[in-house]
Amino acid sequence: MHFHEPAEDEDLQPLVNLTENLQIISKRSTREEKKRQRKEKARKNRLSLLDLPSELVVDILGHMLPRDVFVLSRVSQSVRRFVQENEERIAGEVIGSRYMVLKRCFQLPLRLEQVDVVDHLVLLGEEKPKNWYQHIAAPDSQELCCCRTCIMNWNNLCLMVDFTYWQDNLDNGDPLPVIQRGQYPEWNQELITKTAAIILKALYSPLLLGAVFEKYLQSIVRSIRRQRENKGNKRRRFRMTDEDVFAETDVFLERSGPPTMEIPFIRDRYYLLEAYLPNRAWIGEHSKWVYAGSMHSWDLQRLKTEAVARRKQKAPVSCKDLVICQGCGKTLSIEADASALPDAIS
Ligand SMILES: [Zn+2]
Repeated sequence: MHFHEPAEDEDLQPLVNLTENLQIISKRSTREEKKRQRKEKARKNRLSLLDLPSELVVDILGHMLPRDVFVLSRVSQSVRRFVQENEERIAGEVIGSRYMVLKRCFQLPLRLEQVDVVDHLVLLGEEKPKNWYQHIAAPDSQELCCCRTCIMNWNNLCLMVDFTYWQDNLDNGDPLPVIQRGQYPEWNQELITKTAAIILKALYSPLLLGAVFEKYLQSIVRSIRRQRENKGNKRRRFRMTDEDVFAETDVFLERSGPPTMEIPFIRDRYYLLEAYLPNRAWIGEHSKWVYAGSMHSWDLQRLKTEAVARRKQKAPVSCKDLVICQGCGKTLSIEADASALPDAIS
């Protein structure tokens, strides 16, 4: 076999290309290079909000109005992500410093996922909640607990939003549209559906709930101003100063004022309404408002007791039911035997 003898030049080191692009030096290129360096330096010197410790950023955003936090979150993707990831903390700060009265007056209905899975069956076995009011859509029983307390809480939240829609009419003295009993005009159905969508979303987004409080507080301010001008309204009033308005907090609603005695069950009630603030009572002896706690557990227990009683009447024969919960999709086993039922659903 013949091997090729290496040639002399094959012992040499591999060639390295040391050529470079020719640098074009001209007035224009020098100017552009300086400009690039200036930009680079400015970019390095520029500090972003997110360069601060996250606690500090949350603290800063917690002093802003909810609508401003939403506006800020549109500045860049990184700010948006930060707001999303820290929404609960930011909203906690905002609501805690600005809307504590509203937070305590407007309790939240529980989402079905927050209710014990066995209780789903009790709730879903109940009759679907009816649309009692023209200006409020009934809550979705597939999404929310529909015990009496949670329905009431839902109605209250929806009222906050509906009241804000009509502030221009009320300020300008334009009459609110009247809907005859049994009539369901399309515009109203669209409006209450929109309100329901806002509130449902707000139950998952504390910052959006803060924005609902913000708008409602603005409506209350307009409403109190309006009633001051209304010589025909001899009712007891809330005291509100220019500083209170400027502060954009609900602290002034903590002062003594007219208690809320009834729900504005029809929009006609908006004409004389200053501030609908349910779930609290003024205790003169202690000169302070006392806020009601949630009655959800008590209501749910009542529904369970009623469900057990109904089932005892309907299913005296012992058998095992497998039921798919419409709320969470889980398969539940319920002993239909009347004697076993209390254990299963209580
Ligand atoms: Zn409930």
